[in-house]
Amino acid sequence: MNFRIGVISGDGIGPEIVREARKVLDQVASKYGHAFEYAELLLGGASIDVHGVPLTEETVRQAKTCDAVLMGSIGGDAKTSPWYRLEPSKRPEAGLLGIRKALNLFANLRPAYLYEELRAACPLREDISAAGFDMLIMRELTGGLYFGARKTEEVDGVLTAVDTLSYNEYEIRRIAKRAFDIAMKRRKKVCSVDKANVLDSSRLWRKVVEEVAKEYPEVELSHMYVDNCAMQLVMNPAQFDVILTENMFGDILSDEASMVTGSIGMLSSASLNDTKFGLYEPSHGSAPDIAGQDRANPIATILSAAMMLRYSFDLDEEADRVEAAVRTVLKEGYRTGDILSEGCTCVGTARMGDLIAERI
Ligand code: NAD
Repeated sequence: MNFRIGVISGDGIGPEIVREARKVLDQVASKYGHAFEYAELLLGGASIDVHGVPLTEETVRQAKTCDAVLMGSIGGDAKTSPWYRLEPSKRPEAGLLGIRKALNLFANLRPAYLYEELRAACPLREDISAAGFDMLIMRELTGGLYFGARKTEEVDGVLTAVDTLSYNEYEIRRIAKRAFDIAMKRRKKVCSVDKANVLDSSRLWRKVVEEVAKEYPEVELSHMYVDNCAMQLVMNPAQFDVILTENMFGDILSDEASMVTGSIGMLSSASLNDTKFGLYEPSHGSAPDIAGQDRANPIATILSAAMMLRYSFDLDEEADRVEAAVRTVLKEGYRTGDILSEGCTCVGTARMGDLIAERI
């Protein structure tokens, strides 16, 4: 099959980790007889250096001609980089918010998976980490409290701030459908997280999710209050498959879930719209402290490329193959510096990419 992939190498370690993900994708293409065509796109600091702005219309136009976009990471050191002397709307991060909006990426997916080999990095109690976990947090990304009307005003001489949390049934239905579709590719369980004992927006959320669930009789749906979910993630993370939740709850829970894995260089992510299109990127930043030193862990980006194969291209077998290659390399004891433990072999960014590509 033929696919056109937009590539945003970005800043800091971005170009190094994206190079390794492309190595793996090229190996997949040659093993399975696919053709991947790459279009280089500028975003963030790299775009500021060339065009003076973090996102251009040309980047958006080009991205829309692609089947999916693979991104490294953007941004620099806020203390030393000249990009941070620009006004906030012209800084690298504004480019990322801009492209998400321009491409209508409303569904954010963050898997949290505990590799047996990296269990020592998991901060949970040993009897809990021994059970392992493999979950995916599906967070609504373009609605809710972060996008509602807000104001700060004086009411009867007292400063008062208001933020608005609003969802309509259309916004809830489209993300719920995404979550159920993805659960069908996994262990067929969705846990919808809300605060329906207090919030009207949560009560509507629950009602619409239940309606959508009727279209997916094979998927088991459960509901959980967000405060309970925050506890369950550290007490019994093995219970979760897909967690579906609104924007702010998802912001907090996805960070909590990824941190219980203990390994920032391993965490992939995807942002999807209502077509097959998605933007795939590691959850970590551009790590300017180690940029250009062959020390970055490329695995989060390689796993993001695997998500792209699975969710945008429906190449499940190829995605399984990439994930299995990562597990094999870890089992063989190869580690980048960030996940190094005693008795393992320390390798650089490029070597890690080679090892994974060789095992496809
Ligand atoms: P960071 O994730 O870049 O780095 C935090 C720490 O983790 C650093 O010590 C870094 O060396 C290490 N680290 C991160 N990724 C690694 C990898 N793949 N391999 C090995 N070590 C890794 O977070 P930060 O330092 O807070 O942010 C740096 C820049 O990244 C900032 O400009 C920030 O705005 C940007 N950022 C971008 C994104 C994105 O592109 N989506 C996300 C978060 C932060």
